[in-house]
Amino acid sequence: MRKIAKSNDRSKASRKAPGRPSRGNAEQAVRTLLRWAGDDPEREGLLGTPGRVVRAYEEWFAGYFEDPRDYLKRTFEEVAGYDEIVLLRDIRFESHCEHHIAPIIGRVHIAYMPRNRVVGISKLARLVDVYAKRLQVQEKMTAEIAACIDSVLKPYGVAVVVEGAHECMTTRGIHKSDVSMVTSRMLGVFRDNPETRQEFLSAINLRSAAMGIGT
Ligand SMILES: [Zn+2]
Repeated sequence: MRKIAKSNDRSKASRKAPGRPSRGNAEQAVRTLLRWAGDDPEREGLLGTPGRVVRAYEEWFAGYFEDPRDYLKRTFEEVAGYDEIVLLRDIRFESHCEHHIAPIIGRVHIAYMPRNRVVGISKLARLVDVYAKRLQVQEKMTAEIAACIDSVLKPYGVAVVVEGAHECMTTRGIHKSDVSMVTSRMLGVFRDNPETRQEFLSAINLRSAAMGIGT
């Protein structure tokens, strides 16, 4: 009971970060953008829009109020000498680019070589969400996920590959719809040992081929 109250207090405190505008101010900013787009925020169909947009922002950007390291704190040390790659592939993510606030949708593949601790696989997916639910640059998100796993679990190595489709490219600008961007970060044995890196890359490429995405 006390624990729940405490964590609520903490999230409330962080959501009142210094300099954060009020909900009313945020809704007003949406009305300004609606006028900028050429519409009338006072017309009936748009009356509820500022409130909905601000609530959507609370979901899309919830990652600012969470510490990704929290998800990796609970680990299992009984791994019976397991010293092979742990791989989680095709973790779907939804993020927004920090240049246009346009969606980036894609998949993350994570592998690590445990030293003596492993983490529940759902926790890796939660970790991806925390970083995805912030304004992002895909290269930065890739590096942040790898660095977080590396610093908390201290494995022999970490590999992260992110494939993302950027709506700022597909719906505006150069309008290239079938392009996805691939970024990767290899640390430890995945960087230093070509065989380990290849094992990881083959595992995720095989999956892509099986899904008809191509290699
Ligand atoms: Zn963009």
